[in-house]
Amino acid sequence: MTDTKHKTRRSFLKAAAISTVGAGIGGATASAAESQISAKASSLPAKVPRKKLGTTGQSIPILLVGCAQKFDPKYDKILHRAFKEGVDYLDTAIVYADGQSHRTIAPFIKQIGDRSKLWITSKGPSKNATVDSYTKDLDRCLEELETTYLDLFFMHFVDDPKFLKPEYITMGERLRASKKTRFFGFSCHGDHQVALLNKAAKVGGIDAIMFRYSFAKYGDLELNKAIDACRKAGIGLIAMKTQDSVPGDQEDVLRFKSQQFTLAQAKLKAVWADERIDAAVSHLDNTQKLAENVAAAKTPAQLTMNEFQQLQRMATARAEHSCQGCSHICESHFPEKTAIARPLRYLMYHQCYGESERARSLYAQLSPEERHFEGVDLRAATRACPQGIPIEQRLAEAGRQLA
Ligand code: SF4
Repeated sequence: MTDTKHKTRRSFLKAAAISTVGAGIGGATASAAESQISAKASSLPAKVPRKKLGTTGQSIPILLVGCAQKFDPKYDKILHRAFKEGVDYLDTAIVYADGQSHRTIAPFIKQIGDRSKLWITSKGPSKNATVDSYTKDLDRCLEELETTYLDLFFMHFVDDPKFLKPEYITMGERLRASKKTRFFGFSCHGDHQVALLNKAAKVGGIDAIMFRYSFAKYGDLELNKAIDACRKAGIGLIAMKTQDSVPGDQEDVLRFKSQQFTLAQAKLKAVWADERIDAAVSHLDNTQKLAENVAAAKTPAQLTMNEFQQLQRMATARAEHSCQGCSHICESHFPEKTAIARPLRYLMYHQCYGESERARSLYAQLSPEERHFEGVDLRAATRACPQGIPIEQRLAEAGRQLA
């Protein structure tokens, strides 16, 4: 956030360090509805604030529409309402909505009538990707979206620093020069995330990165250094998975108390309070969620120290529910093909983001070998997990809830 009158992430951290973490929680509990009503006050700005994306020179809203769902091609009220609120940035991907996302966005682009009024980011699949396949992916994005250019093309779900070798950086330059995309970068979901950010800052040629970031990562020293390096290199940073992985029933137990924000709003505010982050992408699949997100983005109110401390306590308490996607750590401990990070991510979509249909669809796409964990010795993997996740228990939970 640019308003220096308000506390930034750094000042929060500094103050938190000298205050009593166990201080009592003050203030009345505000329900989600009450918070939204107060945040809808007419004193709020008409549009969501904007920030410059890295050194692209382009201004984007601080809240972005994640397009993992199918939209109504006739008239999608979420897309149109978001646009009216200034949320004119759509974040999609070839694989979103079972491959249907682009085709359901294309009519909306036509309805707006002026391509330049929208920012569209899309992504090509990363599994077994090559320079050639990414190049074809970009053409496919344009064809399906029925547009002549993307604002930003991402290599999707990058989990290996090899995708930042010179041939990929040169490819990015070529794609920009072709004018099929204005900017180029990648998204990463956790695996080798720090290494990827550090390498991107070093090699250049990356305009923006979308990465997993939330209130739960404030204390991650290595990630913080990597974020600093990216900022220094002028790379735009977009946060995803801002709600982290706290299942709803756990959140009820922890009971976030605030006079001004819902828990979801507070988590967003925690990300926006980090001045290094340009924007946060949210999965906005209903109008209530859209209103809640927009209100949080518009209001100049910031987290109080007490609210921030509650989030910090929640981050500590929820650690064993929060798989960070670093599969290179746990999945290297056995010869079987058992997947850990992906089923746990799908479980997170189901338990924490209410995206049950998507979670079940993705879980069904895992091969029987990837889903198989009974009889696999997961003890070494569990010991290695930095989050202390009871892996077998969680895989069993994923099987019960998603199969
Ligand atoms: S289970 Fe642990 S080690 Fe494996 S991906 Fe999740 S957080 Fe990383």
